[in-house]
Amino acid sequence: MRNVFIFNPGPSVLPEPVLESTSKAVLNFAGTGMSIMEVSHRSKQFDALLIETVDLLKKVMEIPDNYKILFLQGGASLQFAMIPINLLAAGKVADYVDTGYFATRAIKEAKLIGKVNVAASTKDLSYTRLPAPAELKLTKDAAYCHITSNNTIYGTQWQTFPDTGDVPLVADMSSDIMSRKIDVSKFGIIYAGAQKNMGPAGVTAVIIREDLVGRAPENTPTMLNYKPHVENNSCYNTCPVTAIFVVHEVLKWLADMGGVAEMEKVNNAKAKLIYDILDSSTFYKGSVEKGSRSKMNIPFKLPTEELDNEFVSAASKKGFIGLKGHRAVGGIRASMYNALPLEGVQKLADFMKEFEKSKS
Ligand SMILES: *Cc1c(COP(=O)(O)O)cnc(C)c1O
Repeated sequence: MRNVFIFNPGPSVLPEPVLESTSKAVLNFAGTGMSIMEVSHRSKQFDALLIETVDLLKKVMEIPDNYKILFLQGGASLQFAMIPINLLAAGKVADYVDTGYFATRAIKEAKLIGKVNVAASTKDLSYTRLPAPAELKLTKDAAYCHITSNNTIYGTQWQTFPDTGDVPLVADMSSDIMSRKIDVSKFGIIYAGAQKNMGPAGVTAVIIREDLVGRAPENTPTMLNYKPHVENNSCYNTCPVTAIFVVHEVLKWLADMGGVAEMEKVNNAKAKLIYDILDSSTFYKGSVEKGSRSKMNIPFKLPTEELDNEFVSAASKKGFIGLKGHRAVGGIRASMYNALPLEGVQKLADFMKEFEKSKS
């Protein structure tokens, strides 16, 4: 049992049973006598694990059969480029919704490749809310529409996704994948760096509808084209073996505890503990409009910057790690991903109440 609660924004907390099974596999993977770090990505033991990882992800996210699942490297940030490279053909426009730091990075990459329409931006509101559906100026025949389902730094999260009709909806779900039930069939591509809700840094999941594979121009470098990755089941080159192993363990843990539906209940309970404090206190102030609030990342501020800093250092002495807000927002940010137990959030809520009392 560990004596810290990890509120890090990413890489972030992993379930303890996953750390235990991984530590065993580091010494001896699947009875091979080899470490997971030593086995071949083409060994039959790893091949079986990879197939099972894909199946588990399909099961927990209820992914329809007409989607392919890839485990790639380069982070979510490489997907910012791969998506337009594969889907933004000459003469077409891609719609992007600008909801914060990572959305703007995705827009920057797409603009290097082709034509971009920023369908809406909440930049002038310091990204404290998401645009309402009616505010989106979507392009009729867009190549795709890109959103960021959860804005890790600003603490906003789409509650209902925009309806883009026949235009494929592409979502960066790095910081809320598998945290709540979603209808995958509404999306063309879902991608996520694993290091928030799925596993360690070093692997990125891409869930791509079949008809969107094979659209890259002929001169696309092989590693930037989805098609060879699909044809080779993520093993066109050496895949991130150890990181995929950990993702497998996280998926097993999630499935064992009742899947995404159960996880969503716990996440709702965790978020309520903190938002109830923000809503009933004049000492703590949330920065996000209620309708856009994230259940994964909750930014808030105390009355002064000195108190923010004092809070972070007092909290870390009590074992609450990683609460300092992102430099773009300041204040505090509690990142409460799937693997952070309810107990940790309960204890943080108690600490927040005590801290407020000690200052009044
Ligand atoms: C962390 C994060 C990223 C960046 O992911 P990398 O894997 O570091 O490239 C992108 N988008 C969102 C929403 C994130 O939270």
